[in-house]
Amino acid sequence: MTGIMQGKRGLIMGVANNHSIAWGISKALAAEGAELAFTYQGEALGKRVKPLAAEVGSDFLLPCDVEDIASVDSIFEEIRARWGRLDFIVHAIGFSDKNELKGLYANTTRDNFTRTMVISCFSFTEIAKRAAELMVEGGSMLTLTYNGSTRVIPNYNVMGVAKAALEASVRYLAADYGPRGIRVNAVSAGPIRTLAGAGISDARAILSWNQRNAPLRKSVTIDQVGSSSLYLLSDLSAGVTGEIHFVDAGYNITSMPTLETLTK
Ligand code: NAD
Repeated sequence: MTGIMQGKRGLIMGVANNHSIAWGISKALAAEGAELAFTYQGEALGKRVKPLAAEVGSDFLLPCDVEDIASVDSIFEEIRARWGRLDFIVHAIGFSDKNELKGLYANTTRDNFTRTMVISCFSFTEIAKRAAELMVEGGSMLTLTYNGSTRVIPNYNVMGVAKAALEASVRYLAADYGPRGIRVNAVSAGPIRTLAGAGISDARAILSWNQRNAPLRKSVTIDQVGSSSLYLLSDLSAGVTGEIHFVDAGYNITSMPTLETLTK
């Protein structure tokens, strides 16, 4: 097989099932010849990830819960032992207590604020640091964010605050690692029905609002996020770093609902 990712090896973190954004990205990368390793959070998800990995020709699966830093260390030890180097990583990990993904942001608890930040934001920095050590010939790192980082989206609450910090991390990491030829970017995806997406209260209404009001009048698919991510992870974007790239059918450029929506 030949393709723009031929000869490149990368780690995918965040596949839970075949609806996961990370799965859309994995398919796009594998179709272009990339060799992939996958992490999974716990044995139950591992059972789902294993056949998916096999579908894209991978038997390299590693358990990892980012709350446990020893498990993060161990995935990079395994990658060093098996591959010796790394060309790219995908961080598609987010979590917050769903009881706080509804109602007022002001009611966020200290415990959930901290946990959300560690899992959804700081884990990217911890992973980037370890991955950079293996990116001996430069590389590309990608995380996933959402427009709730800069705009108020109902119920997104503390996740929006974590995504704002995640996007700032992208810029700081891009500056840290740029001199070593390592690029760091984020895709800001529009709403998609996934396990994590379903945790946000009224997720269906938000999805439908986006479909009706985005310039392209549709929601995006994991395959569309996958092909844009392929660009950011490949040499096609060799001059791009520190970027937050929207893949949201254009919703982020709008300032008010469409006139059709208003008059219906
Ligand atoms: P998903 O549920 O398929 O993926 C979330 C992943 O995070 C899962 O694989 C889960 O195992 C992992 N995860 C959560 N806590 C973890 C932990 N402690 N350790 C290791 N892994 C952990 O949902 P998704 O929508 O594909 O989410 C992927 C990313 O995309 C998230 O960062 C999410 O915020 C972001 N995103 C999602 C949407 C959307 O509408 N679905 C939109 C924009 C951005």
